[in-house]
Amino acid sequence: MKKYVYSFGGGTADGDGKMKEVLGGKGAGLAEMSRAGVPVPPGFTVSTEVCNLYFENGNKVPAEIETQVAEALKKLESQLGKKLGDPENILLLSVRSGAKFSMPGMMNTILNLGLNDATTEALANKTNNPRFAYDCYRRFIQMFGEVALDIDMEHFDHIFDSRKAGAKVKLDTDLTADDLKAIIADYKKLVKKETGKEFPQDALEQLKMSRDAVFRSWNNPKAVYYRKMEKIPDNIGTAANVQAMVFGNMGDTSGTGVGFTRDPATGEKVFYGEYLLNAQGEDVVAGIRTPHPIADLEKEMPAVFKQLKEITDSLEKHYRDMQDFEFTIEDGKLYMLQTRNGKRTGPAAVRVAVEMCKEGLISKQESVQRVDPQQLDQLLHPVFDRASIKNLQKIATGIAASPGAAVGRAVFSADRAVDASKKSPVILIRKETTPDDIHGMDVARGILTAVGGKSSHAAVVARGMGRPCVVGASALHVEDRKGIATVTLADGKKLVIKEGDWVSFDGATAEVWLGQAKTNEPDPKSPVFATFMSWADEFRGGFGVRANADIPRDAIAARNFGAEGIGLCRTEHMFFAEDRIPHMQAMILARDEKSRRKALLKLLPMQRADFAGLFKAMNGFPVVIRTLDPPLHEFLPKREDLMVDLAKLPYADIKAKKEMSAKYRMPVGELKKNLPELLKRVEELHEFNPMLGHRGCRLGITYPEITEMQARAIFEAVVQVAKKGVKVIPEVMIPLIGNVKELAHQKEIVVRVADEVLGKAGLKKLKYYVGTMIEIPRAAITADQVATEAEFFSFGTNDLTQTTMGLSRDDYTKFSKEYQDKKIFPDDPFAVIDQGGVGKLIEMAVKLGRGTRPDLEVGICGEHGGEPSSVQFCYRAGMNYVSCSPYRVPIARLAAAQAAISGDSAESSRTK
Ligand code: PEP
Ligand code: MG
Repeated sequence: MKKYVYSFGGGTADGDGKMKEVLGGKGAGLAEMSRAGVPVPPGFTVSTEVCNLYFENGNKVPAEIETQVAEALKKLESQLGKKLGDPENILLLSVRSGAKFSMPGMMNTILNLGLNDATTEALANKTNNPRFAYDCYRRFIQMFGEVALDIDMEHFDHIFDSRKAGAKVKLDTDLTADDLKAIIADYKKLVKKETGKEFPQDALEQLKMSRDAVFRSWNNPKAVYYRKMEKIPDNIGTAANVQAMVFGNMGDTSGTGVGFTRDPATGEKVFYGEYLLNAQGEDVVAGIRTPHPIADLEKEMPAVFKQLKEITDSLEKHYRDMQDFEFTIEDGKLYMLQTRNGKRTGPAAVRVAVEMCKEGLISKQESVQRVDPQQLDQLLHPVFDRASIKNLQKIATGIAASPGAAVGRAVFSADRAVDASKKSPVILIRKETTPDDIHGMDVARGILTAVGGKSSHAAVVARGMGRPCVVGASALHVEDRKGIATVTLADGKKLVIKEGDWVSFDGATAEVWLGQAKTNEPDPKSPVFATFMSWADEFRGGFGVRANADIPRDAIAARNFGAEGIGLCRTEHMFFAEDRIPHMQAMILARDEKSRRKALLKLLPMQRADFAGLFKAMNGFPVVIRTLDPPLHEFLPKREDLMVDLAKLPYADIKAKKEMSAKYRMPVGELKKNLPELLKRVEELHEFNPMLGHRGCRLGITYPEITEMQARAIFEAVVQVAKKGVKVIPEVMIPLIGNVKELAHQKEIVVRVADEVLGKAGLKKLKYYVGTMIEIPRAAITADQVATEAEFFSFGTNDLTQTTMGLSRDDYTKFSKEYQDKKIFPDDPFAVIDQGGVGKLIEMAVKLGRGTRPDLEVGICGEHGGEPSSVQFCYRAGMNYVSCSPYRVPIARLAAAQAAISGDSAESSRTK
């Protein structure tokens, strides 16, 4: 018959450390420790499979497995010379959950099992410590009552607290044996009242019920939530670990504690932990008594401390990773209850990985694989001082768009952000942001929006700036005109945030608090980080990581983070600056080519200067510059605003007129004549679906002079910078093509201008490239044709996801929650590449493109370019590089290195 129950203890075990799937992490750890001769209280593990069988079998453990449990119990009893339920030879047990993946605190535990009226009395006599015996019994009834009998903990607390009040004592430990006896009697009455049955006295029945309750706790709401968050499958179940109890609460020669072999916050190699004497497991973590730092144990129990240090050191060596352990001291004898690889912060993960390699414990390759790329975020952004958050009121949770801790005073418009930021840090709170808000976003410490998703304007721009951002915080109702946001709290109550109120939020967890939290600055330039990244780069090899950067400042930041070029410069972002937008608007409003050219001429020197800055910053690395992409109406005032203002104009006083004059950038005297004109043009440009309308290369095809001006600005900047001795590699990229002819049309303009400008400057030989974005399915499907013109491809996966899935990147969040809850999409497709759909198009396009042009350079510049699993996909698809926001560059470097290590051979999928 198949084995379902695995014994451990006394220097041997049926299972071992590799059997996490069967035994769960805890069970595997106990088996491994037993084998290594570490003193663990003996016991047995009921396998994870039994948890699933229990549910399949109508919440009942099949009889044949009960037989195996009974045998394992017998073995344990004979090993210890004790018997469950026998007052002569008391054996007490614990039952603990433990799945393959650590789910700390999410499932249930029952301690002191085996106590009943008779064994408790016997224990009191045997230990000569009635107080201890009654305390164990009342704890057991309480735990068993809550976990196995589903009785609300509040009822127990109520009884306990009333007795404490009656006895006029402050601390639990001040209660006498008689007080505890009275509490036990009350508890038993409660059990009878709530369940209609007496508290079970049969120890075997207690054991079965406890084990089954531990299985059921797999479906605790918090456990279900945790699995969803950590992407742990629902069908793997938990094991139940049944183990002999050892007591840390048998007096002052007993105790219990938890610890880490290194500091889990910083990674420093220090023995780190806490303990309490005369206490049981949960006392240390419950916060009722303040535990002592582990160093004190050396003074109180030197021999035990030495043994603990030796055991945990050897466990770290054995597992070759930082250990998180639990121990109990029973009457001077040390027992290890658990050990596992410890969870750690990003900075600690990097430091431990580097130092363990230097100590010879792990290889360089393992070191690079040890850190979750996403964790690097914590090294690149400010982080919260967690203690300072505890006192703040949490008001909302949104969608994590750009990581980092943000603290500032609330402002509700970009202009107010600029003013207020001169006096104190600000958080810009908007319903959503538009390119008009860029100046406010630039000065804000963080950006918080009520709507939008991971590829919304706010998210994309904030990530580019490295600014913390939470989007889609739907509990917020923002009224920017009133300068307030009303928050609907979880309990339905409303709260108003006014301008100037302190707000703190975490861009990584998307939590928002009212109040001013403290933050700590990380140090991305630390030697440990630099060493770690240099190791990652060794494995990454020739696979490139570039940055999306629009302005020289971001380009410089990108270089500092190790970017090897710019993969996307969105030129339109340059047009929103205060000194440029009037010319941009004039260009859009122009009714004929001549006046359009006039306005473009004004923009040209500004663009040239920007491009020159980018080329300088990227000395020797390629710079991809994209021609104008967004629909033109984005540069104009909103149609609704214009209609309202136009209606108000005849009655407006001089103050209101001045406001309008500033808003529309026209003299007060011209409002009457120009506003209707402006509205007319805005209406002409109005589109039902601008995302699929007059944008991308379609603009350059209808207004070739725009492409011409941009090409001129690019190549004049090339000349300017190249003449100073800087190596320039310009790549001009045409957006949103679906047909090779669109690209051919735009390429002809770029090549004509480039050759003219370079020729005149005597730089004919300077190599430049003209390529395209692949962001429309037709471009991917016809990539063989597109590559006849394109010298490079860059996948615009924001639009490619949007157009392939027919799913608006701005509106998806309205129903994304349902889609994710129902597991229709495994992940947000705008954050993680939809490999089964969009990914197939990408793979196909790479193959087709390289079929036509074997040396075709291929990259990605959508938001996915900085997401670890997507980076790995891009590597496998045979791309040459990924491009992402500057602050994600290290993450992409590490993800690519890990892809290279895990043998995802890019070479095999590359056609050349
Ligand atoms: C894209 O579509 O993936 C892209 C990079 O372009 P944008 O986000 O500017 O549309
Ligand atoms: Mg796009």
